[in-house]
Amino acid sequence: MLAERSKAVASAVKCANSWVCEICSLDFYDKYNVKYIEAHHKTPISTYSAKYSIRPQDLALLCPNCHRAVHIHMKNSGLEYDEIVKLLVQ
Ligand SMILES: [Zn+2]
Ligand SMILES: [Zn+2]
Repeated sequence: MLAERSKAVASAVKCANSWVCEICSLDFYDKYNVKYIEAHHKTPISTYSAKYSIRPQDLALLCPNCHRAVHIHMKNSGLEYDEIVKLLVQ
């Protein structure tokens, strides 16, 4: 989780310039008038080499609720991000 707050992630999120949750489609800016979104690594950060620079497509932009839910599912089921999304997005 901590690793997800890295500078690289912060800049990737800024580049994305989107405040819409990928899972529930909540638009933070629309709803709360705040430019806020969280970035989730689709592939575990431990699989990156030190020199790997994170690209925006490595990240999923999620609201805090969905982000938390994804992590709980990962922990409980060990599923990949894409599989969890399939379960959540119906
Ligand atoms: Zn969401
Ligand atoms: Zn995450």
